[in-house]
Amino acid sequence: MFITTHAALGALIAEQIPNHPIAAFVLGMASHFLSDIIPHGDLNLYKGFISGSKVKRAVAYVVVDGIAAIFFVMFIFNTKIFDHRLAISMGIAGGVLPDLLVAVYELFRVKGLSAFHRFHFFFHNLISGRHGDLPFASGSAMQLVFLAAVISRIG
Ligand SMILES: [Zn+2]
Repeated sequence: MFITTHAALGALIAEQIPNHPIAAFVLGMASHFLSDIIPHGDLNLYKGFISGSKVKRAVAYVVVDGIAAIFFVMFIFNTKIFDHRLAISMGIAGGVLPDLLVAVYELFRVKGLSAFHRFHFFFHNLISGRHGDLPFASGSAMQLVFLAAVISRIG
């Protein structure tokens, strides 16, 4: 899913447990794997990256996605959340970290991350790998709706 979607979900979960930043981190990370199970339209993009046929497109997507996530975090920290920032930060960190670790593995093949990489894609491809993914446009549209619903519940 979008990094922003994972960040928003992590923030929302953390908000439910504002005094437990470590639990917020752990649950934020768990929310990443669980939400990735929902087919969300990026499997072909990933395959294009792996096969080498659409590397620039995949990198462009990740860059835009990352920039959007930075703006999202600035947005919620400047408009919505005022007291429990540590837990919210930890929830966001847990929410986005899996994809960053996956990226580190893709780029540098760090051996210690290979099991984590498999673990991530076990969830990510649980449905989309067997039954097919959504087209990119509908997957993105679905995520935007999901994201709007999550953001509307934060703060
Ligand atoms: Zn992921």
